[in-house]
Amino acid sequence: MQYATINRERREAERGLIGTCPICEISVRPRCGRIRVAHWYHPPGHFDHRWEPETEWHRKWKNSFPKEWQEVCHRAGSGERHLADVKAPNGQVLEFQHSPISEEERSSREMIHGNMFWVVDGLRLKNDRQRFYDALRFRKVVHESPLTFIVPTTSSMLLRKWENSQKIVFFDFGELDEPSDPVRFKASVLWGSFPVPQKGGAILRPILRAKFLDSMTKNSPLVGVEGDVKPVQALVPAWMRPSRHHQRL
Ligand SMILES: [Zn+2]
Repeated sequence: MQYATINRERREAERGLIGTCPICEISVRPRCGRIRVAHWYHPPGHFDHRWEPETEWHRKWKNSFPKEWQEVCHRAGSGERHLADVKAPNGQVLEFQHSPISEEERSSREMIHGNMFWVVDGLRLKNDRQRFYDALRFRKVVHESPLTFIVPTTSSMLLRKWENSQKIVFFDFGELDEPSDPVRFKASVLWGSFPVPQKGGAILRPILRAKFLDSMTKNSPLVGVEGDVKPVQALVPAWMRPSRHHQRL
């Protein structure tokens, strides 16, 4: 956990402090090693409320949101308490996932949180980004505005692993921009994968990173790419350019 309570204040782990877990109200101690980011840990034998150790990537995402929205105690219908990585005042939950996750865990968290998005670290494995972009070479345009593609999932392990999710999954490939990418934008995007009833294909929609954060923090609709940022035209093959039929006047 990033936060524990000390004198009714939310505090980050620091050497010498002893905090209280906001969920089970047990004493927690700081762990400030060189390998993992500083965090609070529960005494042995006590459940840590976290599914995975936090990475820098995880922490960076959480810290893009107000402190009060981070690690929010979420009470499931069953009465069980869980920590949501981020929960906005409108109830929207974000879960950031770096490590591999089992199907059971994934669907259990989707049940618990209800209104949630996944943000998945697309740079964990060396080939994940390459395979994802390779799949994009076989894209078909479903909508021009907002730009939406359907791609085959067969060759991308990342897409296959998440294709059963019932929630929108945003793949985060960082700020990398490779000249060989089949689709490129002028600013960093997250790739939203939308739940589909059948396997084998993923519905993908690029969302500007800045717009994603805006939508979460300002409680505004999540808008896709259109108007202000278009795909770099030279790199868009002729067959996927807007036909006259689809062009907006
Ligand atoms: Zn606890």
